Amino acid sequence: MKELQYLNKYFIKYKYRFLLGLFITIIAQIFSLFTPELIGNSIKVIEDYVKSSTKDVDLLKVSLLKNIFYILITTIIAGFFTFLMRQTLIVMSRYVEFDLKNEIFNHYQNLSQSFYKRNRTGDLMNRISEDVGKVRMYVGPAVMYSLNTLMRFTIVVIYMYNISPKLTLYSLLPLPLLSYSIFKISSEIHKRSGAFQQNLSNLFSFTQEIFSGIRVIKAYAIETKKQKEFIDLTQQSKTKAMDLAKVNSLFGPLMILLIGLSNLVVVFVGGSMYINGDPEIASIGVIAQFILYINMLTWPVASLGWVSSLVQEAEASQKRINEFLKEEPEIKNTTTEHTKIDGTIAFENVSFTYEDTNIQALNNISFSIEKGKTLAILGKTGSGKSTILTLISRLYDTTSGHILMDNKSIKEVNLYDLRNQISVVPQDAFLFSDSIKNNIKFGNENATDEEVIEAAKKAVVHENIITFNEQYETVLGERGITLSGGQKQRVSIARALIKNAPILLLDDCLSAVDTETEETILNNLLAYCKDKTTIIVSHRVSSAKNADQIIILEEGKIIEQGTHNQLLDNNGYYKQLYLKQLSEKEID
Ligand code: ADP
Ligand code: MG
Repeated sequence: MKELQYLNKYFIKYKYRFLLGLFITIIAQIFSLFTPELIGNSIKVIEDYVKSSTKDVDLLKVSLLKNIFYILITTIIAGFFTFLMRQTLIVMSRYVEFDLKNEIFNHYQNLSQSFYKRNRTGDLMNRISEDVGKVRMYVGPAVMYSLNTLMRFTIVVIYMYNISPKLTLYSLLPLPLLSYSIFKISSEIHKRSGAFQQNLSNLFSFTQEIFSGIRVIKAYAIETKKQKEFIDLTQQSKTKAMDLAKVNSLFGPLMILLIGLSNLVVVFVGGSMYINGDPEIASIGVIAQFILYINMLTWPVASLGWVSSLVQEAEASQKRINEFLKEEPEIKNTTTEHTKIDGTIAFENVSFTYEDTNIQALNNISFSIEKGKTLAILGKTGSGKSTILTLISRLYDTTSGHILMDNKSIKEVNLYDLRNQISVVPQDAFLFSDSIKNNIKFGNENATDEEVIEAAKKAVVHENIITFNEQYETVLGERGITLSGGQKQRVSIARALIKNAPILLLDDCLSAVDTETEETILNNLLAYCKDKTTIIVSHRVSSAKNADQIIILEEGKIIEQGTHNQLLDNNGYYKQLYLKQLSEKEID
């Protein structure tokens, strides 16, 4: 139950609903107790009639009819309150489910990039859906049935004890055995349930990856292989589920056996007491009444097994949820003060190592860009270009050295302001399965349609968009059309432009467009970026040549630095690249 204590705050939040549920449960239980008493009484009336000398049939009929009428009324009332009990307690569990899902989602969103690298998407999805579902079963049904059982047990036993303490004690004899077996079996369920949930997460992750990468899978024609892997995983899942079902199904029969034992005890001990003229059992009706009481206990006690398995499963699930909720975002906002960013950026001896792979991506990098200037970064793949950009957005913190934003450590700048005032076009353009318009407006929720078109024109994608039937309303991705790599990059550029932030980071975002379009976009950017600090990461000299400053990276180090002309004079990597790309252009 340790992990489930996390949910106490929700019980406190919904305490009134919870207390009301408790109250209603008590009323429902009290009303359901009338039936055994009335039946016991009916049998006694018949018994008295048989024993009496007058044999007044009319009196017998009236008494019996009266009892039937009361049974009907009290049963209806008990039923009504049981309905209300479900309405309050089960509905409460739905509220908690809603809150918990939102809490987890919000927490997920705040976690750093490295968390997403460590954990698989399917696992994240499983914990926010399946596991929360299991936890809800604890908050709702498990709590409701426990309350119900507790109330019923207490009230029924008090009633029984009042009638005959001796018979009560005898009939409850199998109880310790019952508790012991419940305890034993539920700890087994706990173990097996955790294993099953973990396996389900693996299955989710696997499926999610297959569907995301379905194009590659088809292209390599490895469907059969993947099918085999899937069968393997589902096979494991099936085995785990059956292991769980085995223990789960032990419960019911065991409970019924033990309750049946109680019934036998009541008939035997009660019967002997009656024959011996024990005053506690004045009528056969009392024995009937006891059998009904015992049977009233059957279902709740049998359901204890089910409830305890629900609790154990929820405990296993909550443990998995807590694991993620305990994760602290590595990148923290240190101030609530708002910062206006001008856009002067400086790197001072920055080194960065990716913790999980231990790859040193940057090694002692220093440079600075004045507000409104343009910096181009060139270098081979893996030289650390993208890493520089992710550090500026503070998706990671530097391993050593400092990054200054307007001469202030980037860590002291309000994180949300920082990210708000940077427009990024990432290397792998990601578009949501939504309309093109909304994908562009993602950069600025309040943009007008004209501004969307304006941005698309600057990114040289407007002409493409208007050829689609639905134009800007065209839905992308899973539910809609697939754009080409170059089109995606340009929509992604439009999204960044519409944000109109003082800093613009372009990560190799023209790699999939032809040189002519690149030229046009760069020209458009020239005017747009006049007063913005811009960093262009590229493979091409053509993207870099107009920058105020160019950096050449190799294996995380700056190997050349200067303007286009300075670098040409330098006769190094840049010059070679320039000559190579010049000759390629002539061949074109
Ligand atoms: P570039 O953008 O110049 O191609 P990157 O900055 O993406 O280079 O990568 C620099 C080095 O860091 C590479 O060796 C790459 O494998 C590694 N790297 C990049 N991103 C990650 C990451 N998220 N986790 C671990 N290693 C990474
Ligand atoms: Mg890169």
